[in-house]
Amino acid sequence: MRKRQIFLITGWTVLTVVFLLIPSSTPRLIFAVLTALTALVAIFVSNRKERLGETVNTQLEKTERVSFPIDSLFEATIDSMHEGLLVVDRDMRVVASNPVAYRLFGTTPRVVNQQRLTELTRNPEIYKAFLDALRGVERSSVKVDTVGPERLVFELRVTPLPSENGSGPNGALGVFIDITRTEHLESVRQEFLSNVSHELRTPLTSILAFVETLETGALEDPESSRRFLSIIRKNASRMHGLVDELLELTAIEGGNVRLRVAEVELRPLVDESIASLAAKADAQGIRIHNQVPEHIKVYADARRLERMLMNLIDNGIKFNKPSGQVTIKHESGSRDRIIVEDNGDGIPQHHLERLFERFYRVDRARSSDNMGGTGLGLAIVKHLALLHGGEVTVASELEKGTSFTIHLPHPREE
Ligand code: ADP
Repeated sequence: MRKRQIFLITGWTVLTVVFLLIPSSTPRLIFAVLTALTALVAIFVSNRKERLGETVNTQLEKTERVSFPIDSLFEATIDSMHEGLLVVDRDMRVVASNPVAYRLFGTTPRVVNQQRLTELTRNPEIYKAFLDALRGVERSSVKVDTVGPERLVFELRVTPLPSENGSGPNGALGVFIDITRTEHLESVRQEFLSNVSHELRTPLTSILAFVETLETGALEDPESSRRFLSIIRKNASRMHGLVDELLELTAIEGGNVRLRVAEVELRPLVDESIASLAAKADAQGIRIHNQVPEHIKVYADARRLERMLMNLIDNGIKFNKPSGQVTIKHESGSRDRIIVEDNGDGIPQHHLERLFERFYRVDRARSSDNMGGTGLGLAIVKHLALLHGGEVTVASELEKGTSFTIHLPHPREE
């Protein structure tokens, strides 16, 4: 029995004697019950505390018993790191490294270890960072670009490793953090912002210039006023179109667009798209042919498919010659293929790969300034096709024309 329990039982006995001395029987009974209860609770709590203490102690003892050789622990840790790790001694000889570092220097473990840093890399940034660390200067971060088939960008942090006798660093430990993806995303973001600003600034500058001209006298001349107002309206609607398409593209890319996929009869949908663009086609003397057979059904979100068709037909009109033609066809196969082809200008082959990028234009001046294009139409088509589980492809021949194909999967059998 524990000391605390002996103490409690003694206390309880004393109290029992006291209660026997109480003359009246009812208070004596109450006092007795209370004393007994207090004693029981105290013993229970004290036992429980002890049991808990024992468990913790047992676990602590167990933990102390588990141990690993420090070498294998270190090796396992550095091998599983996402960062590259390189440790050099005072003579700049590599004494430890990990698989990410081998990949970084494009070599094997046997070659890395025991080599001097200068033999491993000619990159002056890396060398200088390690040298500084050996002199006791810790460089917080150095950006390192690798050269080779795959361009990688790393942030390097080198820490001095102190010697046991305190006579300055005995070596240095460098950690290479891969920031290639972050860098890429940052440059895409910057390019995107500069494109948006550029696209908005051009019509805005034009609007401001014409408003100023009207204010400084042109308003008195009704004919000039009408002409300037129509230019202002054209530029304002171009900005409006750009903002609309940007919002749409952002929503699709951000996964915020939910498709309502169902069986859609294709021919009437193509007719509707043609009808919306008829005035524009007429103005440029372009003829549009719907060659989709009757009763062909595809599996798509009707509104989004119409959007894709409109963007492609619109381009077929814009980048065509007077009295050119745009034809819409359908082909069946493992997937439905909807083809929009024109006999217009055609696109040089080296542009095809980047054609579906946001703001990519083959002839910037022609597309944006004279045709009201935003450079986002094909990017929207691409993303909507992907959202349908399909894709869009292009084939083109200069002076002969261009053909875009939307590939749509068949519905999956349940
Ligand atoms: P835009 O608003 O400029 O039409 P798009 O994303 O729809 O933007 O098209 C990107 C570029 O691809 C166009 O600027 C044009 O240079 C080229 N292009 C698209 N469709 C055609 C086509 N049918 N014929 C020739 N060039 C085309």
